[in-house]
Amino acid sequence: MKRIAILGSTGSIGRQTLEVIDALGPDYSVVALTAGSNYKLLAEQARKFKPEMVALSDQGAALRLKEKLDDINCKVLPGSSGQIAAATWFTADLVVMAQVGFSGFEPLIAALKDDKMIALSNKESLVIGGEILERKGLLDRKKLLPVDSEHSAIWQCLGTSSLKDIKKIYLTASGGPFYGKDNIDLAEVTPEMALQHPNWTMGEKITIDSATMMNKGLEVIEAKWLFDLNLDQIEVVIHRQSIIHSMVEYKDGSVLAQLGLPDMKGPIQYAITYPERRENNFEKFNPFGRVLEFEKPDRVNFPCLDLAFKAAAAGGTMPAVLNAANEEAVKYFLNGTIRFTEIPKVIEKVMKGHDIICEPEIKDAVEADRWSRLEAAAVI
Ligand code: MG
Repeated sequence: MKRIAILGSTGSIGRQTLEVIDALGPDYSVVALTAGSNYKLLAEQARKFKPEMVALSDQGAALRLKEKLDDINCKVLPGSSGQIAAATWFTADLVVMAQVGFSGFEPLIAALKDDKMIALSNKESLVIGGEILERKGLLDRKKLLPVDSEHSAIWQCLGTSSLKDIKKIYLTASGGPFYGKDNIDLAEVTPEMALQHPNWTMGEKITIDSATMMNKGLEVIEAKWLFDLNLDQIEVVIHRQSIIHSMVEYKDGSVLAQLGLPDMKGPIQYAITYPERRENNFEKFNPFGRVLEFEKPDRVNFPCLDLAFKAAAAGGTMPAVLNAANEEAVKYFLNGTIRFTEIPKVIEKVMKGHDIICEPEIKDAVEADRWSRLEAAAVI
């Protein structure tokens, strides 16, 4: 029996993780579930999956959840301490990190310190903290199982090969809904348009990040830390069909790719059942009649990609600043305050105003995050 804690269980990845666990049957159980404020859905999930504990970051929502679950034997914890408790829950064999944005950072550190196996979907936590975790010796790559489809692909291509044998990786990107569409004026893009991803069904924040290509930028930094790569070993390639989920080129010139239909349940299931593989009823890939194409990314119309490379090259607290400015800019775009094309402008301006702290501590990353959000609001 594998016992699983899921942080961010009411989001897109969290809900799909529960569907995967449900379909896998009795060898997998849920011991902890957390979310931000969605107490109604979390209560439903708790009744169905019977975890030992649940947590909500929002204190008021946690109280309502407690009332809803007072007839079942399940601990309800509020606030950020509840999230940390779930990340280190004593009976959990695997912790799925499926939160959105910065909220994944401190639970990831707690889970790594507690020596947990982690299925990582929250890329932002590695963007913010990769350098700190590496320097402190906390980045145990054998304990970090990627859920992000590109990183899952690289991980699967690696098999038993050593990270030292990688010459480079090709991180594939669909390009999102506006890529190569000359007839669309990006300045006039609405949130409704940006939320229509051509291939993947995902949460709101990551869908906007995909449309700006910041998602790929964050994934470059995620890959750097997951696979111990230099930035010049990571090449982003536009692959509109989203069938090849990424490729690894080894030092002998051999290139391995992982293929499949674009469905997050594939990488989720692999991270859960690893090192085993299990049958499932997902729609399967058929190669006949398919054309797979690759192009260089358009760095002019999608400047977020280069902003991420710049932040990663600068290091220190800059990736945390990039991430926080992006989270704020996306929020302001979704509520109609700024235009789609202003998202990278806001991020760039905030980055320019930041005095990098080299060799940061965890508290420096937290402070850089806070500063960047205030600065982004001021710039906007
Ligand atoms: Mg991805």
